[in-house]
Amino acid sequence: MGPGPSEVHPRVLRAMSTPLVGHLDPSFIEVMNDVQDLLRYTFRTENKWTIPVSGTGSASMEAAIGNVVEPGDTMLVPTNGYFGGRMESMATRAGGDVVHVDAPWGEPLDSSDVEAAFEKHDPDVFGFVHAETSTGVVQPDVSELTDIAHDRDALVIADCVTSLGGVELRVDEWDIDVAYSGPQKCLSCPPGASPLTLNDRAMEKVLSREELARSWYLDLSLLEGYWGDERAYHHTAPITNVYALREALRLVAEEGIEARWERHRNVAGALKTGVEAMGVEMNAPDDYWLPSLNAVRVPAGVTDTDVTDYLLEQYDLEIATGLGDLDGEIFRIGCMGYSARPETVSYLVSALGDALE
Ligand code: PLP
Repeated sequence: MGPGPSEVHPRVLRAMSTPLVGHLDPSFIEVMNDVQDLLRYTFRTENKWTIPVSGTGSASMEAAIGNVVEPGDTMLVPTNGYFGGRMESMATRAGGDVVHVDAPWGEPLDSSDVEAAFEKHDPDVFGFVHAETSTGVVQPDVSELTDIAHDRDALVIADCVTSLGGVELRVDEWDIDVAYSGPQKCLSCPPGASPLTLNDRAMEKVLSREELARSWYLDLSLLEGYWGDERAYHHTAPITNVYALREALRLVAEEGIEARWERHRNVAGALKTGVEAMGVEMNAPDDYWLPSLNAVRVPAGVTDTDVTDYLLEQYDLEIATGLGDLDGEIFRIGCMGYSARPETVSYLVSALGDALE
């Protein structure tokens, strides 16, 4: 129950023992079609350009930023968590100039601050983190942010690594241009093939770049040869990870995406209630609480690593400590995908109660 990878669903583990076929085998092309359709369902999008990027969440993140940001572009990034910092590093490496919109760690962005940052810097690209794994905060009012950006002709990139498949996310309705994710969080799949979707507006920019994307491997204009209509060799897809992702996404579709969001809210809600009943505080206010990643304040007089070590040794249970500005101040408890079950939550609550005694 750490911040990911979450516990992998047994059906996904079984799918991973499927014998390999070639990455252009007709049967594998059917698997690719299924994965793309199921990703569209899960992202709530009709985007044609919806693919799993070979690599971890950082690969889909770099595919998004490294293709959309051109040398000389300005990208607006948030400072309210760890992953805004990674966006900044990637945008800089892509040749972009980075400007910031600030909020404290543990709070979401305020749309008036985003508006003010647009007025001041006139960025070409705006990135934000929908579900910040380092703080346990979900960004509300996404449509307000995308409206601000589109009124000024900027593209929006959303980090949905810890929200896809667990927390309400509506790529088309909220008018997000580019969304990327990872499979090892709310999809309960091993890392290795990471979801990415781009709308036509974003793809037009990518396909009309003056300078080639700096990464050959993640160049979407080349990846389109494999994941688009042509189905031609670009690189050898991680076949087993794609099998796994298909099974994980089938589980999403069987449950129904909205029912799955509700399960995360309910099960993580029980976790939150249990923690608060022990007199321990959540880090995020209720309005921004992220069900998939519960940031819990370390009580006074307790050393965070004593608790995480104890839980691992005595209960074989993994939770994480804080990162960056919140290092030493919070525990990060994942409640994602297959891990979001009543029995795991009651086990966690009683184990944590014992550890804190
Ligand atoms: N963005 C967020 C919000 C994340 O939580 C993570 C990983 O935890 C990443 C990006 C990077 O993903 P990965 O570690 O799979 O490369």
